[in-house]
Amino acid sequence: GKTANQMLVIFGASGDLTARKLVPSLYNLYKANQLPENFVVLGVSRSNLTDGEFRKKVVLESSYLENKVKGDAEEVITTFADKFFYEDLGDDYSKEYSKLATRISDLNSKYETGENYIFYLSTPPSLYEVIAKNLSEQHLNNEKNGWKRIIVEKPFGYSLKTAKNLNAGLQKYFKETQIYRIDHYLGKETVQNLLVTRFSNSIFEPLWNRNYIHHVEITNAERGGVEKRGGYYDKSGALRDMFQNHLLQIVSLIVMEPPIDASALEIRNEKVKALKSLRIMRDEETLFKNTVRGQYLASVIDGEKVKGYREEEGVDPNSKTETYAAIKFYVDNWRWKDVPFYVRTAKRMPTKVTEVVIHFKSPHHQVFKNSNLKNKDNQLIIRIQPDEGILIKFGVKVPGQGFKVDRANLDFYYSSLAKNNVMEAYERLLLDAMQGDATLYARADEVEAAWEFVDPILNYWENGPDVNIYGYSAGVWGPTNSDDLLEGNLRWRNPGEN
Ligand code: NAP
Repeated sequence: GKTANQMLVIFGASGDLTARKLVPSLYNLYKANQLPENFVVLGVSRSNLTDGEFRKKVVLESSYLENKVKGDAEEVITTFADKFFYEDLGDDYSKEYSKLATRISDLNSKYETGENYIFYLSTPPSLYEVIAKNLSEQHLNNEKNGWKRIIVEKPFGYSLKTAKNLNAGLQKYFKETQIYRIDHYLGKETVQNLLVTRFSNSIFEPLWNRNYIHHVEITNAERGGVEKRGGYYDKSGALRDMFQNHLLQIVSLIVMEPPIDASALEIRNEKVKALKSLRIMRDEETLFKNTVRGQYLASVIDGEKVKGYREEEGVDPNSKTETYAAIKFYVDNWRWKDVPFYVRTAKRMPTKVTEVVIHFKSPHHQVFKNSNLKNKDNQLIIRIQPDEGILIKFGVKVPGQGFKVDRANLDFYYSSLAKNNVMEAYERLLLDAMQGDATLYARADEVEAAWEFVDPILNYWENGPDVNIYGYSAGVWGPTNSDDLLEGNLRWRNPGEN
Protein backbone atom coordinates (compact mmCIF):
# COMPACT_ATOMS: atom_id res chain seq x y z
CA GLY A 1 0.00 0.00 0.00
CA LYS A 2 0.96 3.65 -0.35
CA THR A 3 1.73 5.44 2.84
CA ALA A 4 1.85 9.22 2.53
CA ASN A 5 4.41 11.31 4.37
CA GLN A 6 3.01 12.11 7.77
CA MET A 7 3.43 12.93 11.44
CA LEU A 8 2.16 10.74 14.26
CA VAL A 9 1.36 12.79 17.36
CA ILE A 10 0.94 10.58 20.42
CA PHE A 11 -0.85 12.03 23.47
CA GLY A 12 0.04 10.18 26.67
CA ALA A 13 3.45 9.38 25.20
CA SER A 14 5.04 8.91 28.61
CA GLY A 15 2.68 5.99 29.28
CA ASP A 16 2.84 2.24 29.17
CA LEU A 17 1.03 1.68 25.87
CA THR A 18 3.37 3.92 23.90
CA ALA A 19 6.51 2.16 25.07
CA ARG A 20 5.08 -1.35 25.15
CA LYS A 21 2.99 -1.46 21.97
CA LEU A 22 3.14 1.61 19.75
CA VAL A 23 6.88 2.13 19.43
CA PRO A 24 7.71 -1.59 18.96
CA SER A 25 5.02 -1.74 16.26
CA LEU A 26 6.54 1.27 14.55
CA TYR A 27 9.92 -0.40 14.70
CA ASN A 28 8.51 -3.46 12.95
CA LEU A 29 7.03 -1.25 10.25
CA TYR A 30 10.34 0.58 9.93
CA LYS A 31 12.26 -2.67 9.51
CA ALA A 32 9.73 -3.88 6.95
CA ASN A 33 10.16 -0.65 4.97
CA GLN A 34 6.55 0.28 5.57
CA LEU A 35 7.09 3.74 7.01
CA PRO A 36 6.82 6.63 4.57
CA GLU A 37 9.90 8.45 3.38
CA ASN A 38 9.17 11.43 5.61
CA PHE A 39 7.88 10.33 8.97
CA VAL A 40 8.00 11.97 12.38
CA VAL A 41 6.65 10.91 15.77
CA LEU A 42 5.85 13.68 18.21
CA GLY A 43 5.25 12.46 21.76
CA VAL A 44 3.07 14.66 23.95
CA SER A 45 2.28 14.45 27.67
CA ARG A 46 2.72 16.35 30.91
CA SER A 47 6.06 14.84 31.84
CA ASN A 48 9.05 17.04 31.35
CA LEU A 49 11.22 15.32 28.77
CA THR A 50 13.64 16.50 26.12
CA ASP A 51 13.66 14.91 22.66
CA GLY A 52 16.76 13.02 23.71
CA GLU A 53 15.22 11.73 26.93
CA PHE A 54 12.10 10.63 25.06
CA ARG A 55 14.22 8.76 22.50
CA LYS A 56 16.07 7.02 25.30
CA LYS A 57 12.86 6.12 27.10
CA VAL A 58 10.89 4.67 24.23
CA VAL A 59 13.63 3.57 21.82
CA LEU A 60 17.28 3.52 22.82
CA GLU A 61 16.88 2.25 26.38
CA SER A 62 13.44 0.69 26.14
CA SER A 63 13.18 -2.83 27.52
CA TYR A 64 10.28 -3.43 25.13
CA LEU A 65 12.53 -2.91 22.14
CA GLU A 66 15.50 -4.89 23.43
CA ASN A 67 14.64 -8.10 21.62
CA LYS A 68 13.61 -6.42 18.41
CA VAL A 69 16.80 -4.42 17.94
CA LYS A 70 19.09 -7.34 18.76
CA GLY A 71 21.52 -7.78 15.89
CA ASP A 72 20.52 -4.53 14.18
CA ALA A 73 23.30 -2.11 13.32
CA GLU A 74 23.69 0.93 15.57
CA GLU A 75 22.91 3.18 12.63
CA VAL A 76 19.63 1.42 11.87
CA ILE A 77 18.49 2.00 15.45
CA THR A 78 19.60 5.62 15.71
CA THR A 79 18.03 6.49 12.37
CA PHE A 80 14.77 5.20 13.81
CA ALA A 81 15.25 7.04 17.11
CA ASP A 82 15.93 10.29 15.27
CA LYS A 83 12.35 10.29 14.03
CA PHE A 84 11.11 10.85 17.59
CA PHE A 85 10.42 14.25 19.19
CA TYR A 86 8.72 15.36 22.36
CA GLU A 87 6.64 18.29 23.59
CA ASP A 88 5.11 18.73 27.02
CA LEU A 89 1.64 20.06 27.72
CA GLY A 90 0.04 21.83 30.67
CA ASP A 91 -1.54 20.25 33.73
CA ASP A 92 -4.74 18.76 32.43
CA TYR A 93 -4.19 18.57 28.70
CA SER A 94 -6.28 21.69 28.26
CA LYS A 95 -3.64 24.39 27.81
CA GLU A 96 -0.60 25.27 25.76
CA TYR A 97 -1.99 24.02 22.48
CA SER A 98 -0.71 27.03 20.56
CA LYS A 99 2.78 26.02 21.66
CA LEU A 100 2.01 22.50 20.47
CA ALA A 101 0.60 23.75 17.17
CA THR A 102 3.77 25.74 16.57
CA ARG A 103 5.91 22.70 17.27
CA ILE A 104 3.85 20.59 14.89
CA SER A 105 4.09 23.25 12.22
CA ASP A 106 7.88 23.55 12.64
CA LEU A 107 8.40 19.79 12.43
CA ASN A 108 6.09 19.64 9.42
CA SER A 109 8.12 22.29 7.59
CA LYS A 110 11.45 20.78 8.48
CA TYR A 111 10.60 17.15 7.69
CA GLU A 112 8.03 17.76 4.97
CA THR A 113 5.23 15.66 6.38
CA GLY A 114 2.66 17.22 4.06
CA GLU A 115 0.44 18.43 6.91
CA ASN A 116 -0.81 14.86 7.21
CA TYR A 117 -1.31 14.24 10.92
CA ILE A 118 -2.50 11.34 13.03
CA PHE A 119 -3.36 12.21 16.62
CA TYR A 120 -3.17 9.08 18.73
CA LEU A 121 -4.93 9.53 22.06
CA SER A 122 -3.23 7.14 24.44
CA THR A 123 -4.43 8.90 27.57
CA PRO A 124 -7.22 8.23 30.04
CA PRO A 125 -10.47 8.46 28.01
CA SER A 126 -11.66 11.39 30.11
CA LEU A 127 -9.23 13.52 28.10
CA TYR A 128 -10.34 12.52 24.60
CA GLU A 129 -12.88 15.29 24.13
CA VAL A 130 -10.68 17.99 25.70
CA ILE A 131 -7.85 17.09 23.37
CA ALA A 132 -10.13 17.00 20.31
CA LYS A 133 -11.56 20.40 21.21
CA ASN A 134 -8.15 21.98 21.65
CA LEU A 135 -6.85 20.50 18.43
CA SER A 136 -9.82 21.94 16.59
CA GLU A 137 -9.24 25.37 18.14
CA GLN A 138 -5.77 25.23 16.61
CA HIS A 139 -7.35 24.15 13.28
CA LEU A 140 -5.51 20.86 13.54
CA ASN A 141 -8.68 19.07 12.37
CA ASN A 142 -8.68 21.04 9.14
CA GLU A 143 -8.04 18.95 6.04
CA LYS A 144 -7.56 21.78 3.55
CA ASN A 145 -3.88 20.89 3.24
CA GLY A 146 -3.19 17.31 4.20
CA TRP A 147 -5.48 14.92 6.05
CA LYS A 148 -6.01 14.76 9.81
CA ARG A 149 -6.98 11.59 11.69
CA ILE A 150 -7.61 10.87 15.33
CA ILE A 151 -7.17 7.44 16.92
CA VAL A 152 -8.79 6.73 20.27
CA GLU A 153 -7.98 3.86 22.59
CA LYS A 154 -10.25 1.64 24.59
CA PRO A 155 -12.30 1.80 26.72
CA PHE A 156 -14.79 3.61 24.53
CA GLY A 157 -17.40 4.62 27.08
CA TYR A 158 -18.47 3.19 30.37
CA SER A 159 -22.11 2.70 29.40
CA LEU A 160 -24.37 3.40 26.45
CA LYS A 161 -24.87 6.96 27.60
CA THR A 162 -21.19 7.74 28.09
CA ALA A 163 -20.31 6.10 24.75
CA LYS A 164 -22.90 8.26 23.00
CA ASN A 165 -21.58 11.36 24.74
CA LEU A 166 -18.05 10.48 23.73
CA ASN A 167 -19.08 9.99 20.11
CA ALA A 168 -20.96 13.28 20.11
CA GLY A 169 -18.03 15.00 21.81
CA LEU A 170 -15.51 13.78 19.25
CA GLN A 171 -17.83 14.42 16.32
CA LYS A 172 -18.16 18.06 17.32
CA TYR A 173 -14.55 18.52 16.27
CA PHE A 174 -13.74 15.70 13.84
CA LYS A 175 -15.77 14.10 11.09
CA GLU A 176 -16.64 10.44 11.61
CA THR A 177 -14.37 9.52 8.70
CA GLN A 178 -11.46 11.09 10.61
CA ILE A 179 -12.12 9.08 13.78
CA TYR A 180 -10.46 5.68 14.30
CA ARG A 181 -11.61 3.70 17.35
CA ILE A 182 -9.13 0.98 18.23
CA ASP A 183 -10.27 -2.51 19.06
CA HIS A 184 -7.00 -4.39 18.98
CA TYR A 185 -8.81 -7.72 18.53
CA LEU A 186 -9.62 -6.60 15.01
CA GLY A 187 -5.88 -6.34 14.38
CA LYS A 188 -5.46 -10.05 15.04
CA GLU A 189 -4.97 -12.18 11.96
CA THR A 190 -7.29 -14.90 13.19
CA VAL A 191 -10.12 -12.48 13.85
CA GLN A 192 -9.81 -11.16 10.30
CA ASN A 193 -9.60 -14.76 9.18
CA LEU A 194 -13.16 -15.27 10.41
CA LEU A 195 -14.24 -13.19 7.43
CA VAL A 196 -12.00 -15.00 4.99
CA THR A 197 -12.99 -18.44 6.24
CA ARG A 198 -16.65 -17.58 5.87
CA PHE A 199 -16.66 -15.64 2.64
CA SER A 200 -13.91 -17.17 0.51
CA ASN A 201 -15.07 -20.78 0.79
CA SER A 202 -18.11 -22.51 -0.52
CA ILE A 203 -18.01 -25.30 2.06
CA PHE A 204 -18.88 -23.32 5.21
CA GLU A 205 -21.33 -20.58 4.31
CA PRO A 206 -24.12 -22.85 3.06
CA LEU A 207 -24.17 -24.43 6.54
CA TRP A 208 -23.75 -21.14 8.40
CA ASN A 209 -27.33 -20.78 9.61
CA ARG A 210 -30.11 -22.05 11.85
CA ASN A 211 -30.72 -25.08 9.66
CA TYR A 212 -27.35 -26.62 10.45
CA ILE A 213 -25.91 -24.83 13.45
CA HIS A 214 -27.09 -25.97 16.85
CA HIS A 215 -25.36 -23.33 18.95
CA VAL A 216 -22.34 -21.07 19.00
CA GLU A 217 -19.90 -20.95 21.87
CA ILE A 218 -17.20 -18.35 22.44
CA THR A 219 -14.64 -18.54 25.20
CA ASN A 220 -12.15 -15.92 26.23
CA ALA A 221 -10.09 -17.10 29.16
CA GLU A 222 -7.10 -15.62 30.88
CA ARG A 223 -4.89 -17.50 33.28
CA GLY A 224 -3.79 -14.39 35.10
CA GLY A 225 -5.71 -12.31 37.60
CA VAL A 226 -5.95 -8.52 37.54
CA GLU A 227 -2.17 -8.20 38.06
CA LYS A 228 -1.30 -4.56 38.68
CA ARG A 229 -4.50 -3.23 37.15
CA GLY A 230 -6.75 -3.91 40.16
CA GLY A 231 -7.75 -0.28 40.60
CA TYR A 232 -8.68 0.12 36.96
CA TYR A 233 -10.34 -3.27 36.64
CA ASP A 234 -12.52 -2.85 39.71
CA LYS A 235 -14.27 0.06 38.01
CA SER A 236 -14.64 -1.91 34.81
CA GLY A 237 -15.18 -5.68 35.06
CA ALA A 238 -15.24 -8.49 32.52
CA LEU A 239 -18.31 -7.27 30.65
CA ARG A 240 -16.90 -3.81 29.96
CA ASP A 241 -13.28 -4.83 29.61
CA MET A 242 -13.72 -7.74 27.17
CA PHE A 243 -17.32 -8.45 26.20
CA GLN A 244 -18.69 -5.11 25.03
CA ASN A 245 -15.77 -4.56 22.68
CA HIS A 246 -13.62 -7.55 21.70
CA LEU A 247 -16.14 -10.36 22.07
CA LEU A 248 -19.02 -8.54 20.45
CA GLN A 249 -16.67 -7.70 17.58
CA ILE A 250 -16.08 -11.42 17.16
CA VAL A 251 -19.82 -12.07 17.45
CA SER A 252 -20.52 -9.53 14.74
CA LEU A 253 -18.10 -11.27 12.36
CA ILE A 254 -19.79 -14.61 12.99
CA VAL A 255 -23.30 -13.25 12.70
CA MET A 256 -22.97 -10.79 9.81
CA GLU A 257 -24.28 -11.31 6.28
CA PRO A 258 -21.80 -11.40 3.39
CA PRO A 259 -20.75 -7.83 2.54
CA ILE A 260 -20.90 -6.84 -1.13
CA ASP A 261 -17.18 -6.08 -1.06
CA ALA A 262 -14.32 -5.83 1.41
CA SER A 263 -14.47 -2.06 1.85
CA ALA A 264 -14.64 -0.38 5.24
CA LEU A 265 -18.11 0.92 4.38
CA GLU A 266 -19.66 -2.38 3.39
CA ILE A 267 -18.03 -4.54 6.05
CA ARG A 268 -18.93 -2.12 8.80
CA ASN A 269 -22.49 -1.71 7.51
CA GLU A 270 -22.97 -5.45 7.82
CA LYS A 271 -21.39 -5.56 11.28
CA VAL A 272 -23.72 -2.86 12.53
CA LYS A 273 -26.70 -4.74 11.14
CA ALA A 274 -25.49 -7.86 12.93
CA LEU A 275 -25.07 -6.08 16.26
CA LYS A 276 -28.47 -4.49 15.93
CA SER A 277 -30.03 -7.92 15.52
CA LEU A 278 -28.84 -9.18 18.91
CA ARG A 279 -31.92 -9.66 21.07
CA ILE A 280 -31.66 -7.13 23.87
CA MET A 281 -32.61 -8.57 27.25
CA ARG A 282 -34.86 -6.14 29.04
CA ASP A 283 -36.89 -7.85 31.74
CA GLU A 284 -35.40 -9.13 34.96
CA GLU A 285 -36.48 -12.72 34.46
CA THR A 286 -34.71 -12.95 31.11
CA LEU A 287 -31.62 -11.28 32.51
CA PHE A 288 -31.64 -13.60 35.51
CA LYS A 289 -31.89 -16.73 33.34
CA ASN A 290 -29.35 -15.75 30.72
CA THR A 291 -26.48 -14.17 32.57
CA VAL A 292 -24.01 -15.47 35.15
CA ARG A 293 -21.30 -13.50 36.85
CA GLY A 294 -18.55 -14.58 39.19
CA GLN A 295 -15.45 -13.58 41.06
CA TYR A 296 -12.31 -15.63 41.57
CA LEU A 297 -11.45 -16.79 45.05
CA ALA A 298 -8.05 -17.45 46.59
CA SER A 299 -6.55 -20.77 45.60
CA VAL A 300 -3.36 -22.63 44.91
CA ILE A 301 -2.26 -22.95 41.29
CA ASP A 302 0.76 -25.09 40.43
CA GLY A 303 1.78 -25.06 44.08
CA GLU A 304 1.60 -21.30 44.23
CA LYS A 305 -0.84 -19.40 46.41
CA VAL A 306 -2.89 -16.87 44.49
CA LYS A 307 -5.07 -14.14 45.95
CA GLY A 308 -8.81 -13.93 45.56
CA TYR A 309 -10.12 -10.99 43.56
CA ARG A 310 -11.29 -9.04 46.61
CA GLU A 311 -7.84 -9.33 48.19
CA GLU A 312 -6.06 -7.89 45.16
CA GLU A 313 -4.36 -4.53 45.42
CA GLY A 314 -6.60 -1.66 44.38
CA VAL A 315 -9.78 -3.77 44.63
CA ASP A 316 -12.60 -2.89 47.03
CA PRO A 317 -12.85 -5.70 49.65
CA ASN A 318 -16.63 -5.67 49.10
CA SER A 319 -16.34 -5.38 45.35
CA LYS A 320 -19.20 -6.63 43.19
CA THR A 321 -17.18 -6.34 40.00
CA GLU A 322 -17.27 -9.53 37.91
CA THR A 323 -14.11 -11.33 36.83
CA TYR A 324 -16.26 -13.95 35.13
CA ALA A 325 -19.16 -13.26 32.81
CA ALA A 326 -21.19 -15.76 30.83
CA ILE A 327 -24.06 -14.61 28.64
CA LYS A 328 -26.59 -16.59 26.63
CA PHE A 329 -28.38 -14.69 23.91
CA TYR A 330 -30.21 -14.94 20.63
CA VAL A 331 -29.94 -13.15 17.33
CA ASP A 332 -33.24 -12.00 15.88
CA ASN A 333 -32.84 -12.32 12.16
CA TRP A 334 -33.63 -14.73 9.35
CA ARG A 335 -30.32 -16.58 9.55
CA TRP A 336 -30.00 -17.09 13.29
CA LYS A 337 -33.52 -17.33 14.68
CA ASP A 338 -33.52 -19.55 17.81
CA VAL A 339 -29.81 -20.45 17.70
CA PRO A 340 -28.37 -19.86 21.17
CA PHE A 341 -25.07 -18.06 21.52
CA TYR A 342 -23.05 -18.75 24.66
CA VAL A 343 -20.23 -16.36 25.36
CA ARG A 344 -17.97 -16.37 28.40
CA THR A 345 -14.99 -14.32 29.43
CA ALA A 346 -12.98 -14.57 32.62
CA LYS A 347 -9.78 -14.22 34.52
CA ARG A 348 -8.00 -16.95 36.54
CA MET A 349 -9.10 -19.76 34.27
CA PRO A 350 -7.10 -23.00 33.87
CA THR A 351 -5.54 -21.78 30.64
CA LYS A 352 -5.23 -18.76 28.36
CA VAL A 353 -7.37 -19.18 25.29
CA THR A 354 -9.77 -17.39 22.98
CA GLU A 355 -11.81 -19.60 20.68
CA VAL A 356 -15.05 -19.78 18.77
CA VAL A 357 -16.86 -23.09 18.51
CA ILE A 358 -19.58 -23.60 15.92
CA HIS A 359 -21.56 -26.64 17.05
CA PHE A 360 -23.44 -28.25 14.20
CA LYS A 361 -26.66 -30.17 14.61
CA SER A 362 -26.49 -33.96 14.73
CA PRO A 363 -27.51 -35.81 11.59
CA HIS A 364 -31.31 -36.00 11.67
CA HIS A 365 -31.30 -39.74 11.30
CA GLN A 366 -28.82 -41.77 13.33
CA VAL A 367 -27.65 -44.71 11.23
CA PHE A 368 -24.88 -45.83 13.56
CA LYS A 369 -26.47 -46.32 16.92
CA ASN A 370 -23.64 -48.00 18.79
CA SER A 371 -21.52 -44.90 19.20
CA ASN A 372 -20.74 -44.00 22.79
CA LEU A 373 -19.26 -40.61 22.04
CA LYS A 374 -19.93 -37.80 24.47
CA ASN A 375 -19.89 -35.17 21.74
CA LYS A 376 -21.55 -36.47 18.61
CA ASP A 377 -21.89 -33.17 16.84
CA ASN A 378 -19.55 -31.76 14.24
CA GLN A 379 -17.62 -28.80 15.50
CA LEU A 380 -15.73 -26.05 13.76
CA ILE A 381 -13.31 -24.53 16.25
CA ILE A 382 -11.64 -21.27 15.39
CA ARG A 383 -8.71 -20.64 17.70
CA ILE A 384 -8.09 -16.91 18.00
CA GLN A 385 -5.19 -17.34 20.44
CA PRO A 386 -2.86 -19.03 21.20
CA ASP A 387 -2.10 -21.76 18.61
CA GLU A 388 -4.07 -19.73 16.08
CA GLY A 389 -5.85 -22.01 13.67
CA ILE A 390 -8.92 -23.94 12.68
CA LEU A 391 -10.00 -27.35 13.88
CA ILE A 392 -12.80 -29.40 12.40
CA LYS A 393 -14.16 -32.36 14.31
CA PHE A 394 -15.89 -35.04 12.33
CA GLY A 395 -16.90 -38.67 12.63
CA VAL A 396 -14.80 -41.52 11.28
CA LYS A 397 -15.13 -45.26 11.42
CA VAL A 398 -13.25 -47.08 14.12
CA PRO A 399 -11.18 -49.76 12.33
CA GLY A 400 -12.53 -53.25 12.81
CA GLN A 401 -15.81 -55.04 12.75
CA GLY A 402 -19.09 -53.18 12.69
CA PHE A 403 -19.64 -49.45 12.33
CA LYS A 404 -18.33 -47.83 15.44
CA VAL A 405 -17.86 -44.08 15.11
CA ASP A 406 -15.08 -41.99 16.59
CA ARG A 407 -14.13 -38.32 16.36
CA ALA A 408 -11.23 -37.26 14.17
CA ASN A 409 -9.59 -33.86 13.94
CA LEU A 410 -8.73 -31.89 10.83
CA ASP A 411 -6.39 -29.36 12.31
CA PHE A 412 -4.87 -26.32 10.64
CA TYR A 413 -2.25 -24.18 12.39
CA TYR A 414 -1.85 -20.59 11.26
CA SER A 415 1.84 -20.79 12.12
CA SER A 416 2.32 -23.17 9.21
CA LEU A 417 1.92 -20.09 6.99
CA ALA A 418 5.01 -17.86 7.17
CA LYS A 419 5.12 -17.29 10.90
CA ASN A 420 7.55 -14.41 10.70
CA ASN A 421 5.30 -12.39 8.47
CA VAL A 422 2.36 -12.37 10.84
CA MET A 423 1.92 -8.74 11.82
CA GLU A 424 1.21 -7.87 15.40
CA ALA A 425 -2.22 -6.36 16.02
CA TYR A 426 -1.04 -2.83 16.76
CA GLU A 427 1.35 -2.90 13.83
CA ARG A 428 -1.41 -3.78 11.40
CA LEU A 429 -3.83 -1.25 12.86
CA LEU A 430 -1.29 1.58 12.87
CA LEU A 431 -0.38 0.92 9.26
CA ASP A 432 -4.05 0.85 8.26
CA ALA A 433 -4.70 4.20 9.94
CA MET A 434 -1.59 5.63 8.30
CA GLN A 435 -3.06 4.56 4.96
CA GLY A 436 -6.57 5.74 5.77
CA ASP A 437 -8.15 2.30 5.88
CA ALA A 438 -10.74 2.16 8.69
CA THR A 439 -12.03 -1.34 7.97
CA LEU A 440 -10.54 -2.74 11.17
CA TYR A 441 -11.65 0.18 13.34
CA ALA A 442 -15.01 0.44 15.07
CA ARG A 443 -17.47 2.95 13.71
CA ALA A 444 -19.63 5.12 16.00
CA ASP A 445 -22.87 3.24 15.29
CA GLU A 446 -21.11 -0.08 15.80
CA VAL A 447 -19.87 0.87 19.24
CA GLU A 448 -23.28 2.20 20.20
CA ALA A 449 -25.07 -0.92 18.97
CA ALA A 450 -22.76 -3.04 21.12
CA TRP A 451 -23.46 -0.86 24.14
CA GLU A 452 -27.23 -1.08 23.51
CA PHE A 453 -26.95 -4.81 24.09
CA VAL A 454 -24.62 -4.65 27.09
CA ASP A 455 -26.14 -1.74 28.96
CA PRO A 456 -29.23 -3.55 30.34
CA ILE A 457 -27.04 -6.41 31.61
CA LEU A 458 -24.71 -4.05 33.44
CA ASN A 459 -27.67 -2.19 34.80
CA TYR A 460 -29.24 -5.37 36.06
CA TRP A 461 -26.01 -6.57 37.63
CA GLU A 462 -25.35 -3.26 39.29
CA ASN A 463 -28.85 -2.29 40.35
CA GLY A 464 -31.06 -5.36 40.04
CA PRO A 465 -32.49 -7.12 43.09
CA ASP A 466 -30.46 -9.98 44.56
CA VAL A 467 -28.22 -10.73 41.60
CA ASN A 468 -25.76 -13.33 42.77
CA ILE A 469 -22.09 -12.98 42.20
CA TYR A 470 -20.77 -16.51 42.43
CA GLY A 471 -17.32 -17.35 43.69
CA TYR A 472 -15.04 -19.75 41.85
CA SER A 473 -11.62 -20.99 42.87
CA ALA A 474 -8.86 -19.41 40.86
CA GLY A 475 -7.81 -21.96 38.24
CA VAL A 476 -11.16 -23.61 37.49
CA TRP A 477 -13.59 -22.97 34.62
CA GLY A 478 -15.76 -20.50 36.52
CA PRO A 479 -18.69 -20.95 38.91
CA THR A 480 -20.70 -24.17 38.59
CA ASN A 481 -23.80 -22.04 38.07
CA SER A 482 -22.53 -21.20 34.61
CA ASP A 483 -23.50 -24.75 33.58
CA ASP A 484 -27.15 -23.92 34.26
CA LEU A 485 -27.00 -21.44 31.44
CA LEU A 486 -26.62 -24.23 28.91
CA GLU A 487 -29.67 -25.90 27.45
CA GLY A 488 -30.43 -29.59 27.93
CA ASN A 489 -27.34 -31.70 28.47
CA LEU A 490 -24.97 -29.34 26.71
CA ARG A 491 -21.72 -28.53 28.44
CA TRP A 492 -19.07 -25.89 27.90
CA ARG A 493 -16.20 -27.15 25.80
CA ASN A 494 -12.99 -27.58 27.69
CA PRO A 495 -10.51 -25.94 25.31
CA GLY A 496 -7.74 -28.12 26.72
CA GLU A 497 -9.30 -31.33 25.39
CA ASN A 498 -8.57 -31.39 21.73
P1 NAP B 1 -1.10 5.19 31.25
O1 NAP B 1 0.30 4.74 31.21
O2 NAP B 1 -1.82 5.15 32.56
O3 NAP B 1 -1.32 6.68 30.74
C1 NAP B 1 -0.76 7.24 29.59
C2 NAP B 1 -0.35 8.65 29.90
O4 NAP B 1 -1.46 9.50 30.06
C3 NAP B 1 0.44 8.79 31.17
O5 NAP B 1 1.77 8.51 30.93
C4 NAP B 1 0.19 10.22 31.55
O6 NAP B 1 1.28 11.00 31.08
C5 NAP B 1 -1.04 10.64 30.80
N1 NAP B 1 -2.09 11.12 31.69
C6 NAP B 1 -2.74 12.29 31.58
N2 NAP B 1 -3.63 12.47 32.54
C7 NAP B 1 -3.56 11.38 33.30
C8 NAP B 1 -4.24 10.98 34.47
N3 NAP B 1 -5.19 11.72 35.02
N4 NAP B 1 -3.90 9.79 35.00
C9 NAP B 1 -2.96 9.03 34.45
N5 NAP B 1 -2.28 9.38 33.34
C10 NAP B 1 -2.58 10.54 32.78
O7 NAP B 1 -1.99 4.42 30.21
P2 NAP B 1 -1.54 3.42 29.07
O8 NAP B 1 -1.48 2.07 29.66
O9 NAP B 1 -0.40 3.94 28.34
O10 NAP B 1 -2.85 3.44 28.16
C11 NAP B 1 -3.21 4.56 27.40
C12 NAP B 1 -4.60 4.37 26.87
O11 NAP B 1 -4.68 3.16 26.16
C13 NAP B 1 -5.68 4.30 27.93
O12 NAP B 1 -6.86 4.86 27.44
C14 NAP B 1 -5.88 2.81 28.12
O13 NAP B 1 -7.16 2.52 28.58
C15 NAP B 1 -5.66 2.32 26.74
N6 NAP B 1 -5.20 0.94 26.65
C16 NAP B 1 -4.02 0.56 27.19
C17 NAP B 1 -3.60 -0.74 27.05
C18 NAP B 1 -2.29 -1.18 27.60
O14 NAP B 1 -1.94 -2.32 27.35
N7 NAP B 1 -1.56 -0.38 28.31
C19 NAP B 1 -4.38 -1.67 26.39
C20 NAP B 1 -5.58 -1.26 25.85
C21 NAP B 1 -5.97 0.06 25.99
P3 NAP B 1 1.73 12.35 31.77
O15 NAP B 1 1.50 12.21 33.24
O16 NAP B 1 3.18 12.48 31.41
O17 NAP B 1 0.89 13.39 31.14
